[in-house]
Amino acid sequence: MNYGEIKRVDIANGRGVRVSLFVSGCRHHCQGCFNPETWDFSYGREFTQKTEDELIRALSPDFIAGLSLLGGEPFEEENASVLVPFVRRVRELFPHKDVWAYSGFTFEELTGKLPSRAGKSARELLSLVDTLVDGRFVEAKKDISLRFRGSSNQRILDVQASLAADRAAERKE
Ligand code: SF4
Repeated sequence: MNYGEIKRVDIANGRGVRVSLFVSGCRHHCQGCFNPETWDFSYGREFTQKTEDELIRALSPDFIAGLSLLGGEPFEEENASVLVPFVRRVRELFPHKDVWAYSGFTFEELTGKLPSRAGKSARELLSLVDTLVDGRFVEAKKDISLRFRGSSNQRILDVQASLAADRAAERKE
């Protein structure tokens, strides 16, 4: 897996001050995507053990609320299979911090309720996430007043509540 960027102090992509990882590779190709260079799976640098360790260090301070995964598409199978062991490590080391993920797949696609190319690792990754901002970016529904979302079709979901109820549950603000 490659990644395009790491933000060590990010307040735009989830609640609180966060560490954000922008992975490379996305097959959704939404019209008006703000990051089309990240569609290429070979964009940026290789995600190595050293990168993982750097992220763990960045996550350590008490003022960091958690980790955000963005792209690109973290739930493309190539990316999810690398992120699963990394996020597991983050959860073990920092049980009181949370994990947000942004995906062009919807919750229903990631859980197999609707057909999609999302695979086993994507489902496993979803099970490790607290909050999912889901759905493709739809230019006609773009709304710059929305917090943490680009277009109004996207939802901010409480993943564990959604998995328990077997249907998408929006996170209460
Ligand atoms: S899912 Fe995100 S990264 Fe992928 S094309 Fe859509 S807006 Fe761009």
